[in-house]
Amino acid sequence: MCKDIQPLTSPRVVKELMARYGVNFKKSLGQNFLIDRNILMKIIQAAELDRQDVVLEIGAGIGTLTRELANAAKLVVAIEIDKRLFPILNETLAGCSNVELIQGDVLKLDVKQLVQKYFGQRPFKVVGNLPYYITTPVLMMFLESNLPFEAMVVMVQKEVAQRMTAVAGTKDYGMLSIAVQYYTCPEIVAVASANVFIPPPKVDSAIVLLRKRPNPPVHVQDPTVFFKVVKAAFGQRRKTVLNALTALEMEGVDKQKLQDMLKKCNIDPKMRGEDLAIQQYADMANALCLESQ
Ligand code: SAM
Repeated sequence: MCKDIQPLTSPRVVKELMARYGVNFKKSLGQNFLIDRNILMKIIQAAELDRQDVVLEIGAGIGTLTRELANAAKLVVAIEIDKRLFPILNETLAGCSNVELIQGDVLKLDVKQLVQKYFGQRPFKVVGNLPYYITTPVLMMFLESNLPFEAMVVMVQKEVAQRMTAVAGTKDYGMLSIAVQYYTCPEIVAVASANVFIPPPKVDSAIVLLRKRPNPPVHVQDPTVFFKVVKAAFGQRRKTVLNALTALEMEGVDKQKLQDMLKKCNIDPKMRGEDLAIQQYADMANALCLESQ
């Protein structure tokens, strides 16, 4: 257990700490710190932690979430980019003997090596009140890696959460929906207004739980081809699927081949990428793989 200190969800305490260490909030790093205990506990509950769990936290800030994670889990490895926050973290995490702080950019660090060093082969959970400016790259990095994470609980911009969980035929449906749903089962756990942060951002947020799937929901012969097809189809949203797929750079795949492939998959070439379900993307990718064999 971490030592009892003044609650970090108190705006007065946060301001006092920042002032005492002469640190200002850096907007460019997405520094909006959580000041709502209810939302904080919702993140902890969504992570379903027990004393055996090991957690990778992204963006420790002044340690608000880190402390609660440390009180619920076996080990917390917390990454924070901003060196200026480390003297504060040393104070707020004093006595949290199960926290390892890592200074660095989560997108540049060798996360595989970090995970191997601290967790070995153990499945771990990723938790973070993510800086908005890197939400998608961070999510994609974990999704596309072979890292043995079992779940992610992330606070993201509400619109991004809606895109992650969107289904075909809706305006929010896109590449992110497919990538997230291919690897995980996403669920919006709670929506949080901007005033749960100091300073408040311009947008609302949502907590999303992503449970890693043991297997993708559709059979895909070659994930690289599958994601190429998805990327091409959403690359030019207003085009029909046939025209959008002409951007695919696959040897021997011309417009006629694409027409034949769509026919074989029972897909109307006039449909748009946003109308096609994940299964239809899998059908197209698998048909193209067969073509190129
Ligand atoms: N966890 C704290 C909380 O809930 O109050 C802070 C969350 S704040 C939204 C995001 C944190 O991520 C900031 O402390 C910021 O400095 C840090 N951060 C921003 N970019 C980062 C990066 N590329 N790698 C690691 N941390 C980053």
